Amino acid sequence: MSYTKRDDGRKFDELRKIKAKVGVVKRADGSAMFQMGDTIAIASVYGPRELHPRFLQNPERGVLRCNYDMASFSVTERKKPGPSRRSTEISLVTEKALASVIDLDLFPNTVIDVFIEIIQANAGTRCAGISAAAMALAHAGIPMRDMVAAVSVGKVGDKIVLDLDKEEEDFEEGATDIPVAMTARKREITLLQLDGEVTKDELMEAIKMARKGCEEIYKIQVKTLKEIYKNG
Ligand code: ADP
Repeated sequence: MSYTKRDDGRKFDELRKIKAKVGVVKRADGSAMFQMGDTIAIASVYGPRELHPRFLQNPERGVLRCNYDMASFSVTERKKPGPSRRSTEISLVTEKALASVIDLDLFPNTVIDVFIEIIQANAGTRCAGISAAAMALAHAGIPMRDMVAAVSVGKVGDKIVLDLDKEEEDFEEGATDIPVAMTARKREITLLQLDGEVTKDELMEAIKMARKGCEEIYKIQVKTLKEIYKNG
């Protein structure tokens, strides 16, 4: 059960290599690509725009609607296209991870649509999706109180490790996977899921590690967003 060394040579508290870019979907009001290792997410934002059907409108605040989807070609065995229980759950937790930082009261009766497409999956896709979506919302000019970054942390064998890849998720009987999303300035946790078993102390250690990872991700998000203004 002892996990002594990561296959890709990373330290236990080291993120995979990150690449980020905004403006990747020209038709969208805002968009971003976020890649962690071999996991690639693309997020595009449309809105705020009038919500139809109208009975779904809220006269007091806008609605944030997230849609997470995994491309058929994103995994080695072709994935059946279309929504699933898993994608519905991930869409919902993504909404919850992002909604608290957006000033939705400014946009009554409208919807902000966020489409997240995973084009390559190697674990941590919901987290890459959230990090991409937060950047796409900022790129769309949506007023935000804070930024959101997300990373998965977990227990592989006997070790707490940051940013698990698929091989680590599948280690022995399966690792404990803990996706975490956090706001950058207020450091509030907006997503915390746990699939597996850990002790309280291990969970605390994992959250601390995730916090450090999110801080690194946040720096990349901000740097990438600032670059668009530098380059006109
Ligand atoms: P997350 O991607 O957020 O870690 P899960 O724990 O549900 O979410 O999935 C873990 C990983 O399993 C995914 O990142 C992906 O690499 C793989 N996976 C998920 N769904 C499928 C699928 N339908 N076919 C093949 N691999 C999948």
